[in-house]
Amino acid sequence: MLTKAPRGTYDILPGDSSKWHYIESIMKETAEVYGYREIRVPIFEHTELFQRGVGETTDIVSKEMYTFNDKSGRSLTLRPEGTASCARALIEHSSYAGLLPVKWYYIGPMFRYDRPQTGRYRQFHQFGAEAFGSNNPYLDGEVIMLLLEVLARLGLEEYELHLNSVGCPQCRGQYRQRLIDFIRPYQDNLCPDCQARYINNPLRVLDCKNETCHQAIEGYPTLAANLCENCLNHYDQVKGALAQQGITFIHDDKLVRGLDYYTNTAFEIHIPGIGAQSAVGGGGRYNGLVEQCGGPDLPGIGFALGIERLLLAVEQRGEKLPSPPEMDVFIAVMDSAYEAQGMKILQMLRGAGIKAEKDYNNRKARAQMKFADKIGARLVILLGEEEVEKGFITLRNMRTKEQFQVAESDMLRAVSRTLLID
Ligand SMILES: [Zn+2]
Ligand SMILES: [Zn+2]
Repeated sequence: MLTKAPRGTYDILPGDSSKWHYIESIMKETAEVYGYREIRVPIFEHTELFQRGVGETTDIVSKEMYTFNDKSGRSLTLRPEGTASCARALIEHSSYAGLLPVKWYYIGPMFRYDRPQTGRYRQFHQFGAEAFGSNNPYLDGEVIMLLLEVLARLGLEEYELHLNSVGCPQCRGQYRQRLIDFIRPYQDNLCPDCQARYINNPLRVLDCKNETCHQAIEGYPTLAANLCENCLNHYDQVKGALAQQGITFIHDDKLVRGLDYYTNTAFEIHIPGIGAQSAVGGGGRYNGLVEQCGGPDLPGIGFALGIERLLLAVEQRGEKLPSPPEMDVFIAVMDSAYEAQGMKILQMLRGAGIKAEKDYNNRKARAQMKFADKIGARLVILLGEEEVEKGFITLRNMRTKEQFQVAESDMLRAVSRTLLID
């Protein structure tokens, strides 16, 4: 047990971390081009924040949270998502009192006690963006465009954008009642979960995973057909903003978010060919969230992307992700008496931004050459008796096997030139 990471967690080894750097740098660059700035929030928060900000009736809060009491008996929870923490930070720092909209992005680990499967872990990573303080439908468009641009920059041009509007508390309230009335005569045909929830949360029946529930309610009244005028206009403008950019989407009436503080736009991104878990992310408007978390009545919209699933999608496309950087120079010291001199040269190279390494395990000269080859060194600097006495170095090009001597004072220039040409 001691030698195995907990179920649902995994190590990102140095051989893979360069892929993560690459993906994360694309996310950061794109978000910043769109005017979003990075926020780093704590890994854990007061449990109540998620109960209010994610919703107690959701699977996340009711089944999947890592909740514990700290030594003073406070209930804390490892964050299962990022939006609630952003809303909390917005309120705590009164960021809503400054320039609006407030546009933030985050990248980091999230925690959910869920059954691990391909692309799904208990500690997983998300990239997300949130924009607080505007109800402008073009902002909804921008948030979706930011998400799609991240995908495009990762070479993921094939996707399905599912889009819906869940209305506002007024029109959705009326719609809920209509839906309950519609479902009631068929309630016996629903799965046990839906039978239990259709009165309190009829919208959840729409996105139930059981096909039988969908068949049972065929011909149900749709949300889109029951939006109030404001919500309908908002939805039309979001669709117009996307269409103007040539972005295709699928109106998905079953895409609902069951909680009151979710309003208007809801969306989800699927990437075909990465298995059953094809949704890589999604988001939407949450105009009631900030107030729900104890702040002012402030609109907001955001999304989150699962980085593990994105990586899966990028790799399945055969996209070549960067591999770990090679070593530029290895200093082979022929005798331990010259180690100090070797160290001096090593630090000179590093100071000039050249990736350099030496032996620290008392390897013999020949073993040092093998080691240099294994770590992918492009050049080796040989330092032996003759070199130290006469003040020059021997430079060996590991690819061409050419070897030549340069004065120590010329070392940096010679190394840089050889690295450039080769
Ligand atoms: Zn409405
Ligand atoms: Zn069901």
